Amino acid sequence: MVPGLQTKNNMPMKTPSLYHILILGLSLFIGSCAHEPKEPLYDLHIKDVQIIDEKGKLLKEQHLFIQSDTFAAIIDSEEASLPQAREVIDAKDQFLMLGLWDNHVHFRGGADLIPQNKKFLDTYLKYGVTTVRDAGGDLTPEVLNWNKQIAANTALGPKIYTSGPKIDGPKARWAGSIAVGSQQDITNALDSLQTLGVDYVKLYDSTIDGTLYLKTIAAAHERGMISSGHMPFSVTLGQTVEAGIGNIEHLYYILKGCSNKEAEITEQIRTGALGFWDSMQALIDSYDPAVAQSTFANLKANNVCVTPTLHIGSILSNLDQVDHSQDPQLQELSTAFKATYQGRINSALAASATAKSNRKKLQQFFMTLTQDLNEAGVCLLAGSDAGAYNSYVYPGISIHKELEQLVAAGLSPAQALQTSSLNGSTFLNVSGYQMQVGGKANLVLLDKNPLRNISNTQSIALVIQQGKVIDKEIK
Ligand SMILES: [Zn+2]
Repeated sequence: MVPGLQTKNNMPMKTPSLYHILILGLSLFIGSCAHEPKEPLYDLHIKDVQIIDEKGKLLKEQHLFIQSDTFAAIIDSEEASLPQAREVIDAKDQFLMLGLWDNHVHFRGGADLIPQNKKFLDTYLKYGVTTVRDAGGDLTPEVLNWNKQIAANTALGPKIYTSGPKIDGPKARWAGSIAVGSQQDITNALDSLQTLGVDYVKLYDSTIDGTLYLKTIAAAHERGMISSGHMPFSVTLGQTVEAGIGNIEHLYYILKGCSNKEAEITEQIRTGALGFWDSMQALIDSYDPAVAQSTFANLKANNVCVTPTLHIGSILSNLDQVDHSQDPQLQELSTAFKATYQGRINSALAASATAKSNRKKLQQFFMTLTQDLNEAGVCLLAGSDAGAYNSYVYPGISIHKELEQLVAAGLSPAQALQTSSLNGSTFLNVSGYQMQVGGKANLVLLDKNPLRNISNTQSIALVIQQGKVIDKEIK
């Protein structure tokens, strides 16, 4: 007589929940004892599943075993005997990929928006986003605190890699930015970021002086800090790469580096003869395939990644035409958060007909530019730019939309998947984000094959974060 049976027979059935717990305990016990009385070795067994590895390679009929928060074994179905596990998920005909990384999000919007930002932690998990790269905001203490709680399993959410506050010039556009207006400011800024323990340095381009911008990147590089940023148009892309930047956010700056008139346009920007948006048409007109190829080769040789953020580009360039009022994700946002969307909406609606049309053309150009970068072998990162003020770019769903855009630009679904977890972790130089023994057990189980259609990343059956199956009902 096994102890489990005795307990069940002798105990009065008081509540259904107790009954269920006993039945579950009994069935797991029987399941593990059916043939040989072996102790379960592992916590979780995902049975008979099609694995999609970090490079987008499909491995058929595999068994994946998880112990605590780590991949303990990956075994081919052909092999005769399988280890035991406490819990078994039968995943026949389903697809298992690594948890997604959204490589560009923001937690921001001031104290009033802390509850909404915190709620997004659940939202990310619900959409299979188990890691996010926070690209700077004004909620750094909260972000660092959430990250600690998530790591300690006292709160649910994605792993957050954060830049902390952005570096910009004095009187910067975004709240919470650190102002750099002198050489001493650079030292102070990097000291304080290192004290905070941020994962990388994020630079913005609203007011920072070009020379100080380049010096900041070089100083960060010297300290062994990874940097990523926008780029003031008063410097060239070549100078920025040479200073040691690790990643370029958005494609405006890449476009600038592909022009055969970059030096001339840079000079016009410096003197104020030309503005940022006004320069776009001149840059498109002077796009030179030979210059582009040498720029791409330079990016690749220096291991500089590019985050195209195509989805937000598509949303913002069509704000004048698309009605988002019935978007299901919109209904879940607080009124205060939704109010941050109004600024971009107003300026899109107020733009001239020419400006509206140019914005759409620019977006089209960026699609081609993305594929050119991909073909040249430049590391691309999938990032959505979700966060307050970025109208209708909703946390969670938006990284799936970014993957769709990358495929629409010309990447294969396997290449698109690489831009999320593999390239994201390579850029930040962090390990464990691969489908191999010892890897972090952050997973998404899908009903449909994303290699056949990238939109199938949305057919989520369940999400596993740090080895734990996430309750589907979280919002
Ligand atoms: Zn951003």
